[in-house]
This record gives sequence, C-alpha cells and structure tokens, in this order.
Amino acid sequence: MTTIPQSHWWVVTDLDGTLMDHHYDWSAAMGAIHCLQRHGIPVIPCTSKTVEEVLCFREQVGLRDPFIVENGGAIYGESATGELWHQPLGPSWSQLRPQLAALEQELGEPLQALDDLSDTDADRLLGLSGEALKQAQRRQCSVPFVPPTTPGSRQRLQLLAETRQLGVVQGNRLGHLLGGGVSKGQALQTLKQRLGVPGVKVLALGDSPNDLPLLEAGDCAVVVPGPDGPHPELQAGVAEGRYRLAPAPHGKGWSAAVLRWIPGLQYDHTPMV
Ligand SMILES: [Mg+2]
Repeated sequence: MTTIPQSHWWVVTDLDGTLMDHHYDWSAAMGAIHCLQRHGIPVIPCTSKTVEEVLCFREQVGLRDPFIVENGGAIYGESATGELWHQPLGPSWSQLRPQLAALEQELGEPLQALDDLSDTDADRLLGLSGEALKQAQRRQCSVPFVPPTTPGSRQRLQLLAETRQLGVVQGNRLGHLLGGGVSKGQALQTLKQRLGVPGVKVLALGDSPNDLPLLEAGDCAVVVPGPDGPHPELQAGVAEGRYRLAPAPHGKGWSAAVLRWIPGLQYDHTPMV
C-alpha cells in the first residue's frame, strides 16, 4: 500500500455549522486541530466570514495557515516574515452593494443586507452583537443578505444575478452576493497555485450549499451534519457516495472525520473532545 506523506494533505474547512456549532463554539474540534498541527497538516479556514473574523479565530485557536474569506472573495496567507498578504478574486463590496438594491427591485421582494440589519435583528438571526457583529458587517468582497423565504424566489434571484454576471450562494442563515465565478472551490484552486502545491491532497469539510464548490474541489469531501442531519441540498451527494458523512454534528463530527480520513492520523491517540 502506498503511503502518502502527511504533509501532502490540507484540511480545508468551512467554519460556521461545520467546525463550529451555531453558537460559534469550536471547543469540540480543538483536540483534532492540535493533532493536525503536531503532524504539520495545515488547517485552512474557507468561510463566509470576513478577514477580521478569521484573524480573530486564528488568534484564539493558534493557527498560522492560509485562509479563504467571504465565500471565496479573497485568499490570505502569511509570508515567511509573518506579514499578511492577500489576493482579491472578485469585485469589491462597494461595487457589489448597489447591485443588491437593483436585484431587490427586479425581484420585487425585500433583500435586507447584513449591514442594514438592526442590532436586535442581527442578534436574533445570527446571534451576533457588539464588536463581533461589526466584524461580520465590515465586508470587502461579498454582500450577505436575508434571503427570500420561498425556493421559487431564491431560484429567480439566482437567475437575475446571473444576468448581471454575479452569483448568489446560500449559507445556513444568509444569502451572499458575489462576483460571477467567485466560489470557495475556485479560491482553493487559486490558493494551491499561488503556494505552488498543485498536487496537494485536500480533505474538504462543509455543511451548507455554499460549500458545494469546496466539496467538489476536495480529494475527500465530508458533509458535516447538524443535529437534524445533513443539509437537504447536500443529501444527494452523500447518498450517491460523492461525499462522506461525518458521524456526528459540528465540531465533534469534524474531529471524527479528520482523524478517520487523513491517512496516518488514526494512530494518534489524541482524545476526542
Ligand atoms: Mg457553514
């Protein structure tokens, strides 16, 4: 049997609902993160979150690895001297923001942007307030919004966005307006090229439809379920065997998946949290 050197693997992961639960708690994943760090395997966040939010998360977890923000809108990393570099991969927030208002008019239904939400609504919808909410609202390359409630309206919005060379992806709680062609999967390919590791193996983990391009780009793709099971739009991929299903929700399932499906880690006796 061929042994793949462990440094040839990356763990590329969504955060909200995947590594973290819906209260932004990642404590169940810490044991597996430390195990990956001991093996020199990068943990690369690939998230809807902003750079400020990811920097805060990295600091608390002790990560120095590259990362992908705003659903693939930009990639970030650290130089050898510790300086942060970044590469935008689509239009800026100020270019996208007026487009949301235009789409709202064409759709004939409200599309309330995250930056327009009252503190009370943001707390109710997202469980964010104060500085954490401000960090989430300071976008650079995407516009999150409260999505239409019916599947028909969501589909119509998707088509309207496409006619403007834009994209809309659906996270767990918000829709996200992006530049056309911007996705988590495309950003991962750009990051591999930029770092000169086109052959690296990727364990990709996600929980929502906005993670589909990331899952498709992974060599091993894992759907992390919530307490009620996997997201309905990801179930077909699991049933067809294209994606593996983590055996538990959020951080606990994330940890089990990483330890099970990265070669070599099964011999590590890091306790599961
Ligand atoms: Mg998610």
